[in-house]
Amino acid sequence: MAILDIINVPDPLLKTISKPVDAVTDELRKLMDDMLQTMYIAPGIGLAAIQVGVAKRVIVVDVAEIPENPEEEPIREPKYLVNPEVVWESLEHNVFNEGCLSVPDHYADVERPISVKIRYLDYDGQKREERMEGLLATVVQHEIDHLNGIVFIDYLSKLKRSMIVKKVQKADKEKEDA
Ligand SMILES: [Zn+2]
Repeated sequence: MAILDIINVPDPLLKTISKPVDAVTDELRKLMDDMLQTMYIAPGIGLAAIQVGVAKRVIVVDVAEIPENPEEEPIREPKYLVNPEVVWESLEHNVFNEGCLSVPDHYADVERPISVKIRYLDYDGQKREERMEGLLATVVQHEIDHLNGIVFIDYLSKLKRSMIVKKVQKADKEKEDA
């Protein structure tokens, strides 16, 4: 498995609308394996293919709890979603303090439906429909946004968003210069 480079805002690639996948092939599974590994190392709980520069409608998520004792092996519950679509969403919304691997070290409250039903193809290319709640529902909606060129800071005011983008750019530049 390979660790891929994650792109950060304001990379224009993050505004790309990703293309649907025709079939779940071994090549696509390799991409999903690499994305999952990249996400675990980051560490994060969700990653969309466009964040590693691939404009395909593919996301990986894992919201399993991380053990308090760092010596304990974390329980992994990876989910691979190909061509995910929201087919139903609850009227009830809630607010989560979201973060994003493409917006490192910045968090903001975002309101989304509390529960959604998602249609997708799994790792084996099987069609699935699943109702998701809580953190999983939030993460999957956040990742589907990436496939549509939306980053969570797009929900914030223009002023707040540009402040965050400037800070991320500055931090990335400092890393480059170091
Ligand atoms: Zn994100």
